[in-house]
Amino acid sequence: MIEDYIKKKFSEYYRLFSWRINEPKEIAKREFGFLLFKEKIMVRHKSFLNINNLRDFIKTIIPSDVYYSSAYYLKPEEEMKNKEWLGADLIFDIDADHIDTLCKKEHDKWICKNCGYTSKGSPPENCLKCGENKIQAETWICQKCLEKAKEETLKLIDFLMKDFGFKKEDIKAYFTGHRGYHIHVDSKEALQLISDERKEIVDYVMGIGVDLNNLLNFINEQTSGWTKRIASAIKTNSLKSLTKKKIMRELQSIIKDKAVKIDAVVTMDIHRLIRLPETLNGKTGLRAVKVDLNHLEKFNPLIEAIALNEGEEKIYIKEVPKFFLGEEFGPYKNEKATLPTAAALLLICKGKAELVN
Ligand SMILES: [Zn+2]
Ligand SMILES: [Zn+2]
Repeated sequence: MIEDYIKKKFSEYYRLFSWRINEPKEIAKREFGFLLFKEKIMVRHKSFLNINNLRDFIKTIIPSDVYYSSAYYLKPEEEMKNKEWLGADLIFDIDADHIDTLCKKEHDKWICKNCGYTSKGSPPENCLKCGENKIQAETWICQKCLEKAKEETLKLIDFLMKDFGFKKEDIKAYFTGHRGYHIHVDSKEALQLISDERKEIVDYVMGIGVDLNNLLNFINEQTSGWTKRIASAIKTNSLKSLTKKKIMRELQSIIKDKAVKIDAVVTMDIHRLIRLPETLNGKTGLRAVKVDLNHLEKFNPLIEAIALNEGEEKIYIKEVPKFFLGEEFGPYKNEKATLPTAAALLLICKGKAELVN
């Protein structure tokens, strides 16, 4: 019932806007995957010769989520071991899940599926009460978390251009339709990098393994890379009066601040399926949308990623905090309300509301 409603709305979107989906580079060499509403089954190992075939397929099956491979394959429809990997775009995933924000204490919670213990904030690896790892997280999208994710994305782009020399036109930014951003680097320099090499890039941007002792010897702003980043963050002469231990602590705190918080696994996985831009995110009903790098700083996903702007829906809302989607809503608790389609769809996708008739 709920599923039928979401699917109907997704169908409306794809009927009107499937033209927005651009043809990924070398589409015939990509693997596509579709998460179906029905029983949340993933259909993968699909391939398409051109964008129209892909759009028609999406309009026919109306999936909850659409993915494509960052990799290029000779035979994308074969099973994994026979695909014949030809290369892969360099992908970064920045998600509020990996960023500490104070507001998570207000809007995120987790429940232990084993003992039922529940608590606010980011989910731990193991239950704080029984120690089992059957944690179910309930996350929310909020302006502050998305703003932090965007800051991290801007930091990453700065690293990619200044420290790695990637060209601006080879770097593309996408809002994921949920709690973060994807960066795709489409450059022939990155194409053939194997997983371990991508790990080196991950470690670098995350500030892992920066050699502090060595760095102290030649720290000045004329250098490049981490040395320069750290030098520019140190207040003039402030280190000279400090003990070695305090200097190290100061440097570590600068690195923590300058490092980018990314999901390392996504970048290292050279067979990854990633969300296809201009498709809908089944967790929210929002668009995964390309963001021009020149616009990224001003980009507001909670306005610009709204997929369906027309109509409204009467729903019964269980419990949601105050939220913003084009305008302010809530908080709501066990009450009926009539909301614009996009806001109603968000709550329904999140499992926080039901249709009234
Ligand atoms: Zn537990
Ligand atoms: Zn937040």
